[in-house]
Amino acid sequence: MQEAELPLSISEMSFHSTPPTIQIGFRYNLVCGSFVGVNHHGQSTLLGCSLMKNEEIESFKWLFQCWLRCMGGNAPKGFLTDQCASMKRALEACMPTTVHRWCIWHIMKKIPSKLNGYKRHADIEQEMRQVVWNSHSKDSFDRNWNDFLLNFGLADNKWLSDLYEDCHIWVPIYLDHHFWAGMRSTQRSESMHSFFNKYITRNSSLIQFVKQYDNCLGSREQAERESDAADFHTVIPCATKSSIEAQFQDAYTHAKFREVQAQFRGKTNCITRLKNSALGYSVYEVGEQVSSSIFNKFVVTYDSVAAEVKCQCLLFESRGILCRHALSVLSFEQVSQLSPRYILERWSKKVKRRHTHIKSSHDEPLMEPRSKRFDQLVFRSQNICEFASESKELTAILHRAYDNVMAEMEALKAKRKGTSSLSHEDANLESVNELQSPPRIRTRGRPKNRLGSKLEKQIANATKKKKTKVLSEVKVMFFKFVAIEFIFLVNRLANV
Ligand SMILES: [Zn+2]
Repeated sequence: MQEAELPLSISEMSFHSTPPTIQIGFRYNLVCGSFVGVNHHGQSTLLGCSLMKNEEIESFKWLFQCWLRCMGGNAPKGFLTDQCASMKRALEACMPTTVHRWCIWHIMKKIPSKLNGYKRHADIEQEMRQVVWNSHSKDSFDRNWNDFLLNFGLADNKWLSDLYEDCHIWVPIYLDHHFWAGMRSTQRSESMHSFFNKYITRNSSLIQFVKQYDNCLGSREQAERESDAADFHTVIPCATKSSIEAQFQDAYTHAKFREVQAQFRGKTNCITRLKNSALGYSVYEVGEQVSSSIFNKFVVTYDSVAAEVKCQCLLFESRGILCRHALSVLSFEQVSQLSPRYILERWSKKVKRRHTHIKSSHDEPLMEPRSKRFDQLVFRSQNICEFASESKELTAILHRAYDNVMAEMEALKAKRKGTSSLSHEDANLESVNELQSPPRIRTRGRPKNRLGSKLEKQIANATKKKKTKVLSEVKVMFFKFVAIEFIFLVNRLANV
């Protein structure tokens, strides 16, 4: 068995608030879903992958329950998906506390096909985008949406009225007070799928898929390591004399510092006006010039006692980047040192990689009981080591405990020498089948054989009796491969 380094590094504090996305539609007869997160460089990271027979509610329930089990029962805080009713229902059932968001890009992409029949469809599209993206309160969204429907005679359009009913699940103003690590669209998953496509063709067998999945992880890891190295060895110069910018320069990865710098540049388009102030609490109106004739206005509040700044645009809340409007107010208030609450460890270049090693998906052919025990031990000991390494005294206690435990285990092993009780155990295929197989449900007219031409040929060469056996074993093995990768990976992430 080999070990490959984990290809992703999710910030320790906010992995659970990092929204995984799932994107469907990767390969022919099997439905491929990928769980994608964001690392401290803002890069997409592949957290897990699934292959399902169909996209029914029950299948998604099975998938999400597997995910939850891998996460030790901890549901993610946010979950971004395509506009899919089955996934919505399954998520509501399996993760009722998780904030579910539909990909806005997929919805907006449908505008031409849904509204093409109207005379002024180009104007309609432009106005709808304006209402969706530039409504800075729920009330103003409601007003703007109604005006939009009335102006274009769209009050009877069913697609739009259904979308309005579900506005809480896709319109930014309803969702951006939650942290999404900059994710608003499942395009990250789509790009991950196109990334898969570089490695895998339609003729690839399932076993090849698993191996290439591992290569895909390795490639992502390489990209992250290169970014880590660049952050460590180089410094991006500050664009201003602001000590706040220098705070971010010191803390953030290059990618995130560039985002902060973009906000500093954007500050030059902002005009800050104090509306009222009492007992250290001030309300500002920041006008931002977005074109020669258009100014957007944002309400920004500043509490000098709590050193707290809050802007209506919710950029900090949703992306963890302090916005240009808030920065303008901080300048106005002559704040020279930013409260640490605005410098997120999530984007820190000093983020610790707790999970430095992970098994490759094809390292281990079956999810053996020994592997399960190993995984459970690693999972526990990681927490203990984190705790112990805080001080020399704690570390010494742990070393003594290790010595005692080793002596006890060696004594037991010596006592049982010659017996098989501590030896390698055979895998139990049935138990994994029970864990990984989705409920048997009706498919939607897809071909019966879903395993691809190469595998079909292999199977066809066998006897009829063997054919059934080979097929079932390959399927079981495959799901075990995926399960190993998936469970191992997520077990580690659940610990962050
Ligand atoms: Zn703002």
